[in-house]
Amino acid sequence: MSKKTRMTKQRKAILEVLKDTNIHPTADWIYEQVKEEIPNISLGTIYRNLNVLAEIGEIMILDYGSTYSRFDGVPENHYHFQCSECEGVFDLDVSHKEDLNQLVEEKTEFAVEDHRLEFYGYCPNCQ
Ligand code: ZN
Ligand code: MN
Repeated sequence: MSKKTRMTKQRKAILEVLKDTNIHPTADWIYEQVKEEIPNISLGTIYRNLNVLAEIGEIMILDYGSTYSRFDGVPENHYHFQCSECEGVFDLDVSHKEDLNQLVEEKTEFAVEDHRLEFYGYCPNCQ
């Protein structure tokens, strides 16, 4: 799919909801928000458009395996912390991205393009 994919009214509303929050919401949460603007939208339409938005690089899907997928309006690779108690997903303002890529390139013969790294434990409220 190309970057030229048409930005429908529905898709635009979903993107705006997602860019406007930092809670890394589920599709259900996004559905509740978008419904206020477009009352007849269906959950299926939300899912379909979230996948399209991820494919064209406007958003990022955070897959936590057993739990529901979470969605992020910031598509650039960044680190997250997931709380094991409240399941909150938080952005981490730590920037060792380049260091880690470089470390692996120095220690191995692989040409690194990027990496994924997940942190988990307990958020300040749940400690
Ligand atoms: Zn927590
Ligand atoms: Mn994030």
